[in-house]
Amino acid sequence: MKQGNIGVTTENIFPVIKKFLYSDHEIFIREIVSNAVDATQKLKTLAGKGDFQGEMGELKVYVSIDKDAKTITVSDRGIGMTAEEIEKYINQIAFSGANDFLDKYKDEANAIIGHFGLGFYSSFMVSKQVDIITRSYQEGAQAVKWSCDGSPSYTIEEVEKADRGTDIVMHLDDDCLEFLEKNKMEDLLRKYCHFLPVPIAFGKKTEWKDGKQVDTDEDNIINNVEPLWTKKPGDLKDEDYKEFYRHLFPMADEPLFWIHLNVDYPFNLTGILYFPKIKNNIEMQRNKIQLYCNQVFVTDSVDGIVPEFLTLLHGVIDSPDIPLNVSRSYLQSDANVKKISGYITKKVSDRLASIFKSDRPDFEKKWDDIKIFIHYGLLTQDDYYDKAKAYFLVKDTDGKHFTLDEYKDLIKGNQENKDGQLVYLYANDPDAQYTYIEAAKNKGYSVLLMDGQLDTPLMGLLERKLEKSTFTRVDADVIDRLIQKEETKRDLLEAERSDKLSSIFRSQMPKTDKTEFNVEVQALGADQLPVMITQSEYMRRMKEMARIQAGMSFYGDMPDMYNLVLNSDAPLIQAVLADSESATAEQLKPIEAELKGLGARQAVLRQEQDKKKPEDITQEEKDDLKKCGEDIQAEQKKKNDILAAYGKDNERVHQLIDLALLQNGMLKGEALTRFVKRSVGFIQ
Ligand code: ADP
Repeated sequence: MKQGNIGVTTENIFPVIKKFLYSDHEIFIREIVSNAVDATQKLKTLAGKGDFQGEMGELKVYVSIDKDAKTITVSDRGIGMTAEEIEKYINQIAFSGANDFLDKYKDEANAIIGHFGLGFYSSFMVSKQVDIITRSYQEGAQAVKWSCDGSPSYTIEEVEKADRGTDIVMHLDDDCLEFLEKNKMEDLLRKYCHFLPVPIAFGKKTEWKDGKQVDTDEDNIINNVEPLWTKKPGDLKDEDYKEFYRHLFPMADEPLFWIHLNVDYPFNLTGILYFPKIKNNIEMQRNKIQLYCNQVFVTDSVDGIVPEFLTLLHGVIDSPDIPLNVSRSYLQSDANVKKISGYITKKVSDRLASIFKSDRPDFEKKWDDIKIFIHYGLLTQDDYYDKAKAYFLVKDTDGKHFTLDEYKDLIKGNQENKDGQLVYLYANDPDAQYTYIEAAKNKGYSVLLMDGQLDTPLMGLLERKLEKSTFTRVDADVIDRLIQKEETKRDLLEAERSDKLSSIFRSQMPKTDKTEFNVEVQALGADQLPVMITQSEYMRRMKEMARIQAGMSFYGDMPDMYNLVLNSDAPLIQAVLADSESATAEQLKPIEAELKGLGARQAVLRQEQDKKKPEDITQEEKDDLKKCGEDIQAEQKKKNDILAAYGKDNERVHQLIDLALLQNGMLKGEALTRFVKRSVGFIQ
């Protein structure tokens, strides 16, 4: 038996491995099994070249657990190692500046392990002792056993080994005994070794016999050695892709379509990306792309490798050019990885464009499901707009689809406002906004349906990209002003009467912290409804953005502001006005006389003071003006109180307000019950 020290320049690498790599320690299985697979593949290569002429036999990798001995053994029938090779590949860990390196990357297990060819040593994360029992494929090779207990010293001795290949025996640490659990190990193997190119056997298949599960003779192979992405697209049918998807994501709905990636220049990359059916929670769907390096699972968090918007896709990407075992930050700055990201965007975009071109009806049918990807792409990736323009669709409230160019042609002229802006009208809740949509359609306008999760920010983006265009929700204003054309002259109410009318209605609007109503009187035409509620596009959109975007909470905290628009042309409103005037005339008369007097006095005082320099105005004069203002306010309040008292008992006013609220889904609870009772009263 020979003894020696492992050639690590650091005094002792093992405590480092154990301590710092703790969080990730399950990857030891990936490292050890993929070494076994590599050794097997190498043997196949040698045989292919004629350098190995012995009998190959069955080339499986066996993973076994011995609960009594507390060991995990990984066995292969690959090329094996001679004592010299162990010396070279295992003992001499070529390592420069190890201290610096470990210091810098102590939190990143993958970085240390991969970068310095420490794959094998990751076994020490979970073991107090590791044995290598190996016999080289070379004729007459002597089998050897190497053993190391986690200190820098090892032993190596000659042993008997019947078969070519290597057994790695890991004697587990007492705090790592969980890896002896069959289910746990099977889960890990499926996670990391699911698509390795050599069969991995873990125990035997079981069957149900005499009331219990018993082992059969058949090996339990946990991997699929020829995953779909390694095959030629031409040889595959739709059903193959769907089946592979079910295999990867058993719980998911059938995918919409898929893209088979296959490129060998300027980098190697294969894979299959699926467009899943996205329900409503975007976050839930993320991290469903698995990254492989030569069929070895690397990670399923692909941020930085796949463009952000495509992280919503599901599937696999395999590239030998994606450096295995390096840190996330390193991956993201890697030039190859950056190219991969650009390539994937292009491929996905090309595929969408080609489906759109070859089968537009089908594309339109799927649009509602795929738009989320496209919207997300447009919002997160600047250069994507130019690519997506070709197949980006909008849908109107009748379910008809248009490209942006088509839509622009449709509304050109008719939906242009007096400033030459094209107004894109939209609804996001066709039921709730039914009346407004109808009004717009009757006017010959087209209304888009914008009910997607990302439509609010998307409209902001489109407003920036499309020239002279704005999006306005159908209920943002009364129909005549929705798209402001040249002013049309209408019989406007005198200010005095209009104020009275607004005052009556304002006093009766529901009062809450979260909503505010502004009341205005408009001459909308006798054929239009007497009352309606609108909400300014700007404020509403700011509030919606605040909900999805940090840093805009200022808007989010503001109350919802609505306009109650009274149509002074409507006979009902005119009737309310006439009735209120006669009902309150008596009471208002003295107040109005007083207001008139005060108004005149205020005007005189102001005029006098305007002529003087500010410093020449005496305190007395200032007080006079102030007092006058206060008196006006007091009288005004009296007036409003009288109007409010009129409004309070006026069923017509309440009925009108409630109808407007009802139409916007804002009449609830007690107010709704009152409304129903009142309405019943009317028809009795
Ligand atoms: P890497 O695999 O990155 O080279 P490792 O530390 O995992 O680093 O392995 C070091 C070397 O030891 C391998 O390159 C290989 O030559 C040898 N080796 C490891 N495991 C086996 C095995 N099961 N059979 C044959 N050789 C092996």
